[in-house]
Amino acid sequence: MEPSKVTNILNHQYVLNDPLHQLFDAVDTIAVQGYDEERRVIYWNKGSELLYGYTSEEALGQKFEELIIPESMCKLVIEQHYDWLNNGKEIPASELTLRHKNGGDVCVFSSHVLLINQYNKKQMYCIDIDLIAAKSAKAQAIYQEQILEAAFEAIPDLFLLMKEDGTILDYHTSNKSNLFVFPEKFIGQPIYDVLPTFVAKMFKSNIANAISHKGVASFEYELAMPHGLICFEARVIYLPEQNQVVTIVRDITEQHRTAEEIRHQAYYDMLTELPNRFLALDRLSQMLNEAERNGEKTAILFIDLDDFKRVNDTLGHEVGDKLLLESANRLNQVVRKEDTVGRLGGDEFILLLRALTEDYNALTIAEHLLNVFRNPFKIDGRELMVTLSIGIALYPDNGKSVSDLLRNADTAMYQAKALGRNTYSFFTQEMNVSMLRRLEIEEQLIGALDRNEFEVHYQPQFDAKNNIIGAEALLRWHNSALGNIPPDEFIPITEHTGLIVPLGKFVVKQALSFLNEWQNSRQRKYKMAVNLSPRQFRDIELLSIIQKILKEENVSPESLELEITEGVLMIGQSYIDNALVEFNKLGIKLSMDDFGTGYSSLSYLRRYAFDVLKVDKSFINNITSNKADCDLVRATIAMAHSLGLTVVAEGVETKEQCTLLRELECDYLQGFYFSKPILPKQLIALSKKDTLSI
Ligand code: C2E
Ligand code: CA
Ligand code: CA
Repeated sequence: MEPSKVTNILNHQYVLNDPLHQLFDAVDTIAVQGYDEERRVIYWNKGSELLYGYTSEEALGQKFEELIIPESMCKLVIEQHYDWLNNGKEIPASELTLRHKNGGDVCVFSSHVLLINQYNKKQMYCIDIDLIAAKSAKAQAIYQEQILEAAFEAIPDLFLLMKEDGTILDYHTSNKSNLFVFPEKFIGQPIYDVLPTFVAKMFKSNIANAISHKGVASFEYELAMPHGLICFEARVIYLPEQNQVVTIVRDITEQHRTAEEIRHQAYYDMLTELPNRFLALDRLSQMLNEAERNGEKTAILFIDLDDFKRVNDTLGHEVGDKLLLESANRLNQVVRKEDTVGRLGGDEFILLLRALTEDYNALTIAEHLLNVFRNPFKIDGRELMVTLSIGIALYPDNGKSVSDLLRNADTAMYQAKALGRNTYSFFTQEMNVSMLRRLEIEEQLIGALDRNEFEVHYQPQFDAKNNIIGAEALLRWHNSALGNIPPDEFIPITEHTGLIVPLGKFVVKQALSFLNEWQNSRQRKYKMAVNLSPRQFRDIELLSIIQKILKEENVSPESLELEITEGVLMIGQSYIDNALVEFNKLGIKLSMDDFGTGYSSLSYLRRYAFDVLKVDKSFINNITSNKADCDLVRATIAMAHSLGLTVVAEGVETKEQCTLLRELECDYLQGFYFSKPILPKQLIALSKKDTLSI
C-alpha cells in the first residue's frame, strides 16, 4: 500500500476490498455501493451509476442520505446503520424504494454486508437489484404468456407440440369438439397411433419433410367425426433448437364448403342445378376429345321450350321458374348418367349424348323427349302444356368442333321451330344457307318499318255471283338489299323478334284506312280480312289499338275480319280466349285461317265465336283431281254451315275449282283465278267492274 494513499481517507478505505471491487466493476447489472462508518460512499460501481444516476465521481465521499435515501426514510436508515455498527444488529435484505438523482423512485431489492478492514474500520456494502427491470421482465413474461393464452383461446386451431418422433407433448385448443380422441389418450402417444392409418401416414411424411427441410410442411386431410366429415389443414413447423415439432391444425370444412359453393355457382345453373353453359360446353369439348380417341359417334341436341316466354310474361316468373325446373327434370329422365343435360340460358337446354349405338341414338332420344313433354305440367294447381323444338347435330358428320356443332344444332333447332314446333330436326348443309338468309333478313328488318319498306296489298274475295264482297290484306316487303321478300319468309322472323307487333298495327291501320276509302268510293260495304299472328296477342294493347283505329278510320267493327290460325288457339292461354271474346263483343268478325292444315279441331270451332272458316289452299289445289280432298272440303263446308259459319276457299286457281266449290256451296272464293293480291287503286278499279265476267 502506498503511504500517500493511506492518507486519503477514501483510498484508505478501499484497500481491503480491491479484489471485490474488481468483481463488482465487472458487472453492471447489479448496483453495489460501499459506505464507511460515517455513511460516506467509498465505492460506487457502474451498476450504481446506471441505477441511481450519479457517477462514481459524484457519489464518492457523499453520505447515502444525501444521495439515494428519500427524506422520509433518512432517520430510520441512519438509526439502523448506527445500530449495526455499534450493536451488531444486521439490516435485513428487503425491497426498498430509493431515490434517483433526478428525484424519481428506484425500486430495489437491497442486501447488505458489513466488512471490517485492516484498520478495523467497518464498511457496509449494499448490493441492489433493480426490481423495476426484474419486475418488468417478469411482467413481460407473464404478459407474453397471457397473449399466447388469449391467442390459443381466440384461434380455433389445434396446436400440437411433438417430439421429432411424433410423440405428442402438449396441445392447445379452444375447440375440443374437433379433437379426434380425448387428450388423455394422445398426450405422451405418437400421433401416428392416434389417427387413422391414412392420415397418420400423411403426418409422418410431412413431419419428416419439415425436419429435413427445417421449414414448414402443410397438407390437408379429412376425419370422420361424430358431427360429420371435417376437413383439416395441418402445418408442421420444425423447431431445430428444441428438436420439437409444432403442428397447427385448422378446421377448413367451412372454407372448403364455400369454395365448393363458389365452384358450383360458376359451373351450375342456380335454378335447375344443371351444368350451365360454361360447364356444358366444357363437357362437350371433353366428349369430342373422347369421341375422337375412341372413334365414337355423339350427338348434340339443342332444345328450346316452345312459347316459354309467353308463360313467363303472362303467368309470372315464379311459374316460369317452376316450369323450367320441371322441364329440366323431364330432360334428365330421358338420358343416361353418362350423358349431359345442361342449361344454356333462358329456356334453352343442351343434351350431349355420348357413344351412340344402334339402340341409343339421337332419333329415339328426340322422340322420347317429345313424348315425355306430352303430359301437361301441373304447376300451382294449373295444367300447362309445353312442347319442345329440338335441333340435332351429329359428331363427326355435322362438325368436329364445339362451335361448329353448337351452331349447327342451333340452326337445326330453328328449322324445328319453322316446321311448326313440337318437333325435332337434324342438321343439314342446306340449313346453313337458310340460316344465313335468316340472319340477313333479321338484320334488314331493323328499321324497315321506319324506312317505309312495307306495303299492304289486297286480294279480293268473291261471292257466288262474282261480286267482290271484300278483301284480305297481305303484307309486302321490298328491301333495297334483298329485294322482295315473301311474307312466309319474313313474318316468322318478325314474330321471333317481336317486330310483328308494330308491323301488325301498321297493317290494321293501312287496311282500315283503305277500307274506308274503298267503301266511300263505291258507296258500299266491304269486309276487310287482316291476319293476326299469335305473338300479337301477347301485346296487351292489341284490342284497344284496333278499337282506336276503327274509330279513326270510321269503319264499323263488323267490316273487320281477323284471321287467326289454329296455332293461336292451341297455346291455350286465357288472355287469348279473353281477347277473342272481346273482339266478338265488339262485333269484329273472327276467321279461322288455313283450316285443314293443323289439328283442324272441331272443338275450337264450337268453343270460340268464329264467323268464317277459310279452307286451306292445299285442299283447294287438289279438289278437282283428288276425291278424298274433294270429300273433305265438302264435309268441311257442310259442317261449317251447320255451325253457322261462312266458308271461304282460298287459293282458287282454276275455273274447274271455282265451279266445283260453288257446287259444294262454298260461300266466298279467293285466289289467283280471280286476282292476285293487288294495290289499293287497282282493287278500286277492279271493283268498279263488278260483276266480273269470269
Ligand atoms: P295466308 O294468310 O294463308 O294468305 C294467303 C296466301 O295465299 C297469300 O300469300 C296469298 O298471296 C296466297 N294466295 C292467294 N291466292 C292464291 C292462289 O290462287 N294460289 C296460291 N298458290 N297462293 C295464293 P302471301 O301474301 O305470300 O302470304 C303468305 C302468308 O304470310 C299468309 O298466308 C299469312 O300467313 C302471312 N301474312 C301475310 N300478310 C300478313 C300480315 O299482314 N300479318 C300476318 N300476321 N301474316 C301475314
Ligand atoms: Ca290469311
Ligand atoms: Ca290461309
